[in-house]
Order: sequence, then C-alpha cells, then structure tokens
Amino acid sequence: MALLQSYLGEYNNRNVNSPMTPSTEAYLPAYNGQLNLASAFVWSVTRIQVFMIEVIDNPSTYGVERKVESELKRLRTDIVDLSQKGSKYQSEASCPQAISRIVNPAGASKDESYLLLDTMTYEGLPYWCSFDLLGRFLSIISPAPQGATHHNFYLPLTLMYANWCRKIAPKAPWMYSCAWAGGKDKQSRFHLGASLGGYSLPKEQGGRWVSILQQARFDILRDERTDAVGLTIQSSTLRSSKRKPIPYGNCAETYPLVHLLRNRDPSEEVYGLAVMLRKLPEAAYNHPQALDTLVRPCSNCQDVIGIWGGKVENFITDDMPENSTTASSGVQSPISPCPDPRASGFALPTRIKWPSPEDDTAEPAAKRVKGPAPEISRKPSHLAKRKDKPQ
Ligand SMILES: [Zn+2]
Repeated sequence: MALLQSYLGEYNNRNVNSPMTPSTEAYLPAYNGQLNLASAFVWSVTRIQVFMIEVIDNPSTYGVERKVESELKRLRTDIVDLSQKGSKYQSEASCPQAISRIVNPAGASKDESYLLLDTMTYEGLPYWCSFDLLGRFLSIISPAPQGATHHNFYLPLTLMYANWCRKIAPKAPWMYSCAWAGGKDKQSRFHLGASLGGYSLPKEQGGRWVSILQQARFDILRDERTDAVGLTIQSSTLRSSKRKPIPYGNCAETYPLVHLLRNRDPSEEVYGLAVMLRKLPEAAYNHPQALDTLVRPCSNCQDVIGIWGGKVENFITDDMPENSTTASSGVQSPISPCPDPRASGFALPTRIKWPSPEDDTAEPAAKRVKGPAPEISRKPSHLAKRKDKPQ
C-alpha cells in the first residue's frame, strides 16, 4: 500500500493539474495480495528464485490450487536449470543457451542440425525455453485479482515478467504478451509468454537450429482450424524490416493464445496485450513508460486470433503509442537491447557463433537456410505420439 501511495504521489506530483486518466489508476498486487508488481519489477535473479521457492513452500498464502502444486515445483526446476548458471543452460558446453537441447548424434553430417530440441511437456504442450517456462509459472500460481484491468494489473505484470526474463538469461526475447480470460464476476485466468528468443547458433548449421525452433513454435499453434485455412510456416506474409519472413508461432502471443483462446469457453471473452523489450524502463516500474511499451498485434497474431474466434480489438487499447504497429514493434530487427555476453565477462565458447544484431537472434526473422525447407509433419507435433523430439 505504501508503494502504491508513493507511486500515485510521484505520478500526481508531476501531473498536479491533470485530470485523472486511466494511467493514474492504482495497480493491484498479484497472487492473493502477496506480490507488489512494481517493487518486484526490479528484483534480482536471486530474489526471483527465492520468490519461486516461497510460492512452492507456502501455496495457500499465494492462493495456489492444490492441483498445480507439483507442476510449480517441476517448472521451478526447469526454469533454474535453463537460467544462465543452470545445468541445462550450460549442458552443451560449446553453445550455452536458454533452450533445452541435446547434441544431435547425426550432427556431424552437414545436412543435419548440430542441436536438437529436448522439450518438456506442460498441459499437453512442449516447452523448452526458460522464458516461456517462467511465463507459465507466473500464470498458474493463482488467477488475477478481482477488478484486474489492463492498467491496474496486466500491464505491470507483463513488464515485471519481461524484466525478470531479461535477468534470468541472456538474449531475452524482444516481445512479451499477456492474455486473460474470464466470465462475469469471475477472477480472470491469464497466461504470459515471450517471443522466440534465448538461443545461440552453433557454428555449424546454425540456420538449421533456427528452423527447428521456428518449426516447434509453429507446431504449438497448429491445429485442425489453422490447417483448414491453409496456415503453414511458409504462408506468413509478415516481413521484418529486412524483408525476411516472420513465421507464425514466432510471436509472444503464441502460448497465451493457445492456452486461453484456442479452447475457450464461449461465455469467456479473451483479451490481451503485448509489450516490447526495447522500451522497457531500466531502473524502476513507471506506468507512463509502461504504456509506451505497448504494441498492437501483428498481422500473424490477427490471423490466429481470427481463426480461433477471438476479437482483435480486445488486443488493442486507445492509449497505445502511435505507430505501435508491427513495423516498429520489434518484430523487425531492432538493435539488440540485451547486454552482449561478450562485454560482461561471459566465457565465450569457441564453437559458438554469437550472431550480430543484424541476425536478430531474439526475435528472429525466418532465416532462409540452405537446403530443403523445414518439413511439416502431417500432425501438429503436440498431437503426434513422439511429441518430445523433433522429427
Ligand atoms: Zn504477433
């Protein structure tokens, strides 16, 4: 409460004569009133990890339902393992990254990717990246507080999540999304996700690694309805500023839409927002600055929202910055805002090729890899029997 007052005080001091606008609304604490989103925005990695343990050790305090207690434990282990100092992050020593992976036994062949995905399954979907795992952890603890809105909850929550991602591992994704769904007088469920990020390219066949990741993201989206309208990984018309194709599934909205929109109860409306890392406040949470991070859904997301019966207008608000379209949203290839691991004493393995900002690793435009286009299995991978390993 003190923090809330200080936030309002700070804001009002700068806007003494301004009428109250939505951006001056108070924001609500998360998880049964336990988490002040503004103060948690600046937490260190250690504090974030302590928080995860506190939630697991005191489920009733945080409003955790019994049925997700064991999943939270499993998620925490996977997140820690895939964070910068974690065992899975470091597991493949020549190419450390936030992606769960194994060395391809056939990787010596020039036609094969050096790395293969090693996925974990949560709620029937494959996960492999610490950023999306963290988004899931934060999403299943407990629902949004009563009265949660875009301004008073989901935006500060999403910015906190984005800032935490920036801390747990290098190469944080460019984009972050939160979708929420709920009926009348019900506390809304929400789901956080990030765009494809956190990976590094092995020196050999790096393009194939990108293709594997892009294909896996597309497979998360793929279902009978996307098939029925002919959505394929190549059918996206979205282009980066360098005219590279951006495939379906790349966006931060991917997991949130799959979890909340795809199989929604018809009585529920689904809303959402997306923010870009590039505009994230550096030091402390600041609501006017937070509003400036908002981005409209790109054409790919609009397609997917439409296919699954959602309303694109539920993902757009009046106070979005002008020009917050995909062209300027970070779906293109902005200059990397992430600390370069080479500049921070991070041991640079010899095998790894750190891509230049031009390669846009965190929010990649689809790279035209040499060799055949990625194959699409007849069934979405999460519906296929062997869903844990790429083809
Ligand atoms: Zn999008």
